[in-house]
Amino acid sequence: MNNPSWLKDGLSHIWLPYTQMQTMTAPIPAIATKESRIYLADGRELIDGIASWWTACHGYNHPYIYKKAEEQLREMPHIMFGGIVHEPALRLASRLAKILPDNLNHVFFSDSGSVAVEVALKMAMQYWLNKGDTKRKKLLAFRGGYHGDTMATMAICDPEEGMHSLFTGILPEHYIVDLPKDEESIARFDLFLEQHHSGIAAIITEPLIQGAGGMLFHSPEVLKRLRYFADKYNLLLIFDEIFTGFGRTGSMFAFEQANVAPDIITLSKALTGGTMALAATVATTSIFNSFLSDNPIHALMHGPTFMANPLACACALASLDLFEQENRLEQVAKISQQMTDELAPCRALPGVKDVRVMGAVGVVELEKITDMNKLKSQLLEQNVWIRPFRNIVYLTPAFTITPKELQNLTAAIYKVLSQAI
Ligand SMILES: *Cc1c(COP(=O)(O)O)cnc(C)c1O
Repeated sequence: MNNPSWLKDGLSHIWLPYTQMQTMTAPIPAIATKESRIYLADGRELIDGIASWWTACHGYNHPYIYKKAEEQLREMPHIMFGGIVHEPALRLASRLAKILPDNLNHVFFSDSGSVAVEVALKMAMQYWLNKGDTKRKKLLAFRGGYHGDTMATMAICDPEEGMHSLFTGILPEHYIVDLPKDEESIARFDLFLEQHHSGIAAIITEPLIQGAGGMLFHSPEVLKRLRYFADKYNLLLIFDEIFTGFGRTGSMFAFEQANVAPDIITLSKALTGGTMALAATVATTSIFNSFLSDNPIHALMHGPTFMANPLACACALASLDLFEQENRLEQVAKISQQMTDELAPCRALPGVKDVRVMGAVGVVELEKITDMNKLKSQLLEQNVWIRPFRNIVYLTPAFTITPKELQNLTAAIYKVLSQAI
């Protein structure tokens, strides 16, 4: 392998994500991207099945986003958002409010998904405090859920995912229960809320697909039910659409398929089409109004330094233009059909527990993955970039991927899984 000099020098100083640095296999050096391709330092070219943690929905280096970013770069790449506003942020706020349901009208920008969720939690907690209700100290989240890696968001992840046992006594303790999916879990959920609702500020879930928790699907009925119970017990409902937003599940937002709206929604990942770090927390007018007061303490005391970065907002506006101009949702439907057809044969392979597809998310769930490193390197040998985790091998390609490229990805999965693993 042709290793550039920055690689060896830098690797002894870098701390990588989700990695046991002592036993890790070497990460691969990338030098360029284009559309659904990743180019490596050693000359290899990979087809990307993940779209960089689900962000690059239009493929990499989209010329239109480039053009808009370049224009913004020349004008004003960054400026503080305290006391100053600018066109890209205000246009983006209006535009998000327009594509979201009627009363989701108030947009708070931040720079990462975890922070967007933190802001949502803070809004929900303070909503009750501002109303004089000081008993709402808990959140209700779900097994299999993932909402980020910061301390407050870890506390509402699946207990295993959020490593609650390791951080016992450090993380705040919230309620983590099963999604109300069937008769039994619905009855339990109702009973639980009956007993605990007066101490709960909000229910939070990822609608339709719990992503990092294992690409677990649930039906729109579950979301309808959550809205029903939130209303019944007077709780706020937060949808974390950081993964599912912007077409990934087949509709622009996942909640549209259930025809119910949350009180707060969080967005990030594909918001800028995979170019810049940006996130948004959008709240209803009723929540926003609860912060209006003559008392300064009722304000939302939050303000990430790089919030509403103009360059990132310009990229997000360009990304929304592309959704309007280029029929992304039709592409998602085609990808969905192709993955359904081409991943189906995996069902017959030994060790395969389930194959499921929703929108542009295709999942092959295995009984277990015994040698993760081996599986990853076998996939890499097929010149594809696919990152299995837990017990799943999954695809979340760019919506612009070609049928041929997608076929390469599904064929690579079938081939590798049919070898002994
Ligand atoms: C990725 C993700 C987050 C966290 O976003 P970061 O930008 O990584 O902080 C939160 N919620 C969901 C559903 C996510 O998929």
